[in-house]
Amino acid sequence: MQVPMLDLKPQYEKIKDDIQREIAELCASQMFILGPKVEAFEQQAAAYCGARFACAVSSGSDALLMALMVEGIGPGDEVITSPYTFFATAGAISRTGATPVFADIDPAYYTLNPALVEALVTPKTKAIIPVHLYGQPADMDPILDIARKHGLIVIEDAAQAIGAEYKNRRIGAIGDYGCLSFFPSKNLGGFGDAGMVLCNCPERAEKLAIFRNHGMMPKYHHRFIGGNFRMDALQAAVLNVKLKHLDGWTARRQQNANDYNALLAGVPELVLPAVAAWTTRHVRNQYVVRVQAPASRQAVWDGLKEAGIGCDVYYPIPLHRQPCYTSLGYRQGDFPESERAAAETIAIPIYPELTTEQKAFVAQTLASLVKGSRS
Ligand SMILES: *Cc1c(COP(=O)(O)O)cnc(C)c1O
Repeated sequence: MQVPMLDLKPQYEKIKDDIQREIAELCASQMFILGPKVEAFEQQAAAYCGARFACAVSSGSDALLMALMVEGIGPGDEVITSPYTFFATAGAISRTGATPVFADIDPAYYTLNPALVEALVTPKTKAIIPVHLYGQPADMDPILDIARKHGLIVIEDAAQAIGAEYKNRRIGAIGDYGCLSFFPSKNLGGFGDAGMVLCNCPERAEKLAIFRNHGMMPKYHHRFIGGNFRMDALQAAVLNVKLKHLDGWTARRQQNANDYNALLAGVPELVLPAVAAWTTRHVRNQYVVRVQAPASRQAVWDGLKEAGIGCDVYYPIPLHRQPCYTSLGYRQGDFPESERAAAETIAIPIYPELTTEQKAFVAQTLASLVKGSRS
């Protein structure tokens, strides 16, 4: 039996007719950038996330960059975030000329540990970017408290967590901005790159729309230096169809996680993903387990691949240890929980269309590899 890490084909098979009708309409209209399909998707996605405004953009990375740009964050400024995330979170900060300042994660949930944030606030700090990792919200309340106290902006990196809920509130509309990604492998994926910035403030929403199009308003008048961060109409057309199915797909991801939890319970050295008390809806973008010594993550990783089971490590090198960030001056040992997570975790397939047999095979293989890898 082969189990890929992700297979988008069965999902496409089921919605093919609707997608192809949308694409045919788009081809007939020859309206490829922004326009009515994008506006419709902005309205649908904002409503889904409980946000007042949505600005559809070219990628999740550009969504983060734009939120920072609209706030005027740049050289000399500092932005606090997690070193245990996809590179784009910190990359966006650096691209503005500002400096990422890392705070370690909570070892149980892999999200920013708010208790470590306040000590890092300096007069240069302008924003905090919590990351809702693997589909689970970061602990927002203490982060918002710190932000309010020090006059900081909160930008949620919600790329992995559309529809997740923190204390019964949808993430993405809790901070000042929420950034979504529609990269094909995310829970709501387009047919290419796309992203979105959510916010509740009309002034910010207006600025986002202007920044998305080179800071231009009206035509050929540039009040700001923005960029080309526009979403293609093709992506919006596809995403509009897919959004209607998202809750169903999320339910299947949750079922898969519950099944794995039951199948893998009690395996020594295997730590299953924990759900925080504040998480009232986990959208299970990834199912990440921790392989603790004396078992070997490397042996488990190799063994899964050999057995034909897709798996991946998110993320093997924390950002403070990336070569491009040596100039920040961090050392090994600075963020022990992020380093430990990078060394011990591995993600197994969780996509909605997994079969019962596939889940059983993955769990059985994983459990026996963990047991057999004790050194
Ligand atoms: C995917 C992702 C991004 C970037 O989104 P893109 O659409 O790929 O640019 C940012 N942050 C996190 C946590 C992500 O997982």
